[in-house]
Amino acid sequence: MDAISYERAGDVAGAVRAVQQPGAMFIGGGTNLLDLMKGGVARPMRLIDITHISGLDTVTTLPNGGLRIGALVRNSDAANHSLVREQYPLLSQALLAGASPQLRNMATVGGNLMQRTRCGYFYDTAFTQCNKRMPGSGCAALEGHNRMQAIFGASPQCIAVNPSDMSVALAALDAVVRVTGPAGERTIPFAEFHRLPGDRPDVDTSLQPGELITAVDLPPPLFSANSHYLKVRDRASYAFALVSVAAALQMDGNHVRVARIALGCVAHKPWRASTAEQMLNGQPLTQTRLHNAAAAALRDARPQRDNRFKVQLAQRAIVRAVNQAAGRTGGVA
Ligand code: SF4
Repeated sequence: MDAISYERAGDVAGAVRAVQQPGAMFIGGGTNLLDLMKGGVARPMRLIDITHISGLDTVTTLPNGGLRIGALVRNSDAANHSLVREQYPLLSQALLAGASPQLRNMATVGGNLMQRTRCGYFYDTAFTQCNKRMPGSGCAALEGHNRMQAIFGASPQCIAVNPSDMSVALAALDAVVRVTGPAGERTIPFAEFHRLPGDRPDVDTSLQPGELITAVDLPPPLFSANSHYLKVRDRASYAFALVSVAAALQMDGNHVRVARIALGCVAHKPWRASTAEQMLNGQPLTQTRLHNAAAAALRDARPQRDNRFKVQLAQRAIVRAVNQAAGRTGGVA
């Protein structure tokens, strides 16, 4: 058993200072980190508990009409907050699609952004090949079980996916992540927060050493009337997605003024379907156009041996999610 020291941070500056000690890690709700520690995947020497920092557990309206969600807001509180439910129902739906009520009561918004892949080879230390866990060791999933893995953006080093539901909605909403680190405060556009694996699959995000997530900012609510989060999974609850879709539309009658579509569990980061968005923007929402856009979204997919089904599944999920967002509940793929 490894010895671990524990330190409770009183404020953001103290947390940032404390985490610069050798082997130190932040801990919030701990719903992912404790699993990783129990499995021997994460081995921190010092835990910096950030859950008692005041001011990071609130939801506040921004001067521009957007919303700031503190990093320590619990997933269940964020999902059920009246402003989130009314103005960002896409985010509320995505949060409620994740994990179980018990886990959502513990997990924080900041921690959700930091959750690691659910690749089985990453969690099972009996497997000696995992570049994410042990850089340079190889990737057991390439020739192993890869049904759940990526169809976009993978590298020969890693084909894992990001498992977060919340992050898919935040990608569609163009959220901004606020962080504080040794060099001060900065903001990170959501599209730049999570990384593709490249040759450093052990690095999940663009956070610099010592940086602490303090909040997520949502732009003014433009999609509250027409949005939908669709999660397709092997069983009805407490399962990670095979594929998920966050669809957000600004509609003008039958015309799509603006479309936002993000896919989950298809890549190492939430995957924006930009080509499909462009094919829908400013156009009447016909089923032919929507099917063509969905097909275009998957054109560059590179599935693995066991997950070719994800290509058609994602196409159909895009069609269904966009139809649902547009209020066409009868529309099916
Ligand atoms: Fe490890 Fe990534 Fe390969 Fe999974 S896909 S075994 S996380 S390197």
